[in-house]
Amino acid sequence: MDTRLEVFLAEVKGTLMENRLIRERSTALREESKRARWKALAMHEASVRTCRQGWAGLSWLASGGSDGDDAAALSAESLLEHTRDAIISGKLPPRASYRSWGGPSTRGEDCAICQRSIKRTELAYEVEFANDGASAPILQLHVRCFLTWQRERRKW
Ligand SMILES: [Zn+2]
Repeated sequence: MDTRLEVFLAEVKGTLMENRLIRERSTALREESKRARWKALAMHEASVRTCRQGWAGLSWLASGGSDGDDAAALSAESLLEHTRDAIISGKLPPRASYRSWGGPSTRGEDCAICQRSIKRTELAYEVEFANDGASAPILQLHVRCFLTWQRERRKW
């Protein structure tokens, strides 16, 4: 056989072999990415579940006592009304706060939305709307009121 032809055939064989390797590698990668996608999806679902449980736990805690004078005693409509009033009156702007912290209430102040006091045993949110130090008021909100405001403000 012609040497040039032999070289050419060897090259073709080499290229075919290379193609096969590339195809196998790409199949393996596709499988891997499929598995990664499933894993990501499973993790996302797990985190959504955890969040829901977390919020459910928080709202349960935030509902606090049962003396009838806390935010939990407010009907959803009444809370919505209070929230809209707070937005319309400018007490709470319809935009995201500059900072907010959640935690056990320490000051026992009144909630900026429902005007009811936040018990020291309840969870509360403190929200701040400006980054200008002393002049920026820090508002206290029940968790339930905070969540209602978060939902409402997006509609404005
Ligand atoms: Zn409140």
